[in-house]
Amino acid sequence: MSSSDSDLTALTAAELADKLASGETTSVEVTQAFLDRIDSLDGELHSFLHVDHDGAKAAAVDVDARRGAGESFPSLAGVPIAVKDLLCTVGQPTTCGSRILEGWQPPYDATVVSRLRRAGMPILGKTNLDEFAMGSSTEHSAYGPTRNPWDTDRTPGGSGGGSAAAVAARLAPVAVGTDTGGSIRQPGALTGTVGVKPTYGGVSRYGIVAMASSLDQAGPVTRTVLDAALLHEIIGGHDPMDSTSLDAPVPGIVEAARRGDVSGLRIGVVKELGGEGFQSGVQARFEESVAMLTEAGATVVEVSCPSFAQALATYYLVMPSEVSSNLARFDAMRYGLRVFPEGVGDPSAEQVMAATRDAGFGDEVKRRIILGTYALSSGYYDAYYGSAQKVRALVARDFDRAFEQADVLVSPTAPTTAFKMGEKLDDPMAMYLQDVATIPANLAGIPGLSLPAGLAEDGLPVGVQFLAPLQADDRLYNAAAALERMLLDKWGGPLLAPLATTSEVPA
Ligand code: GLN
Repeated sequence: MSSSDSDLTALTAAELADKLASGETTSVEVTQAFLDRIDSLDGELHSFLHVDHDGAKAAAVDVDARRGAGESFPSLAGVPIAVKDLLCTVGQPTTCGSRILEGWQPPYDATVVSRLRRAGMPILGKTNLDEFAMGSSTEHSAYGPTRNPWDTDRTPGGSGGGSAAAVAARLAPVAVGTDTGGSIRQPGALTGTVGVKPTYGGVSRYGIVAMASSLDQAGPVTRTVLDAALLHEIIGGHDPMDSTSLDAPVPGIVEAARRGDVSGLRIGVVKELGGEGFQSGVQARFEESVAMLTEAGATVVEVSCPSFAQALATYYLVMPSEVSSNLARFDAMRYGLRVFPEGVGDPSAEQVMAATRDAGFGDEVKRRIILGTYALSSGYYDAYYGSAQKVRALVARDFDRAFEQADVLVSPTAPTTAFKMGEKLDDPMAMYLQDVATIPANLAGIPGLSLPAGLAEDGLPVGVQFLAPLQADDRLYNAAAALERMLLDKWGGPLLAPLATTSEVPA
């Protein structure tokens, strides 16, 4: 790898965009630099399930030629990107980390993907995830786990550990993730990257394989707040193909990310999201962040959201109910795997379906389908699903009340730093608790952002989470940009994963 290539992969997406616009570099050079880095480092990390060398290079050639011919493009034209393997992509497989979709090639692009293509962003490949985005460590991928570039014995979080690890290790300048209960923000915290879950409906879900439709939202995975805003602007906005898409412009997020001014801003510390059960180094970095925001002119109040005590339990009824319904489409008839039961001469459709789903789905997916089917079954529906929907309304009401006292809420993003591979794999409850601070936002549909806030006592990254009211995503970018600027001044530059500064796979 030449030094100029490695220099390119060290730049943020905004810096790359400037160099591309001024003609100092080309998309072909930038894209090749990232592909080289993937080739040299991803054997160890396994952040990609599929790398599209040819497609990415062809897109780079195309954007360079069109730019050369005088065509004007949006901000990130020519900057390559990685996409979570839950989004449909023409010309590349979409597996969702599951055997049931092994080798499946979608016939159409997700709206997010077509917007990336239209914006001239070459797609490097598809990133690893827990099967159908169910998990908090990326260990539930049927194709093997992703490792954390800060410590390869540890997980990068999940479900979007592939996107987060790729960005943290500089295998991609930016990536797209999805967040149903925390899958953008929690991996962001565990890998020291910026992750944003936009307001529900702010980014189209068309062509994103559904996990739990009322909670799923795609968003940016980046190294800086400004890069996240630039990407969010490209993928966001109304889409007639998604019936839950908001018919409203994306709030002024890029301007907010450039502003970063918290003077006079009211910041609410959520009493229920922190303290007991949170690692001491996580809590310490969070409290320092709040102190810095105060120094910068924000006023801090404590807010209480009592219903959050039930948020995790509520999520684990609503989400599996929707999972059980959404995953019914994998019936061995329409697409994906088809397995014939052994020793059955003339199997019925139901027998093929059962054999296929047994072979194609992993344990965590099966666990949730069973849980959801039970919660929705007659006789139990009111007690479980019905009650969960009521608590969901209480969570939204608690947020409404909190936002009467504060413009933005803050909390640690995850209760711990990156945990060891295997540590929580046999203990679903311990895994689920990783999302205790991120889930309330999904239940209420509000936007959230995780920003790297330093390293804990174990030398691993900590994330601080910002939450804002529905459709006030710009507030997240403004407040996070202010804190980011102060932290970068304090650190003298971004905190980098060991694998981000090497071009060699450590022995
Ligand atoms: N970790 C959570 C779960 O397992 C969230 C997943 C997600 O956001 N996709 O459901």
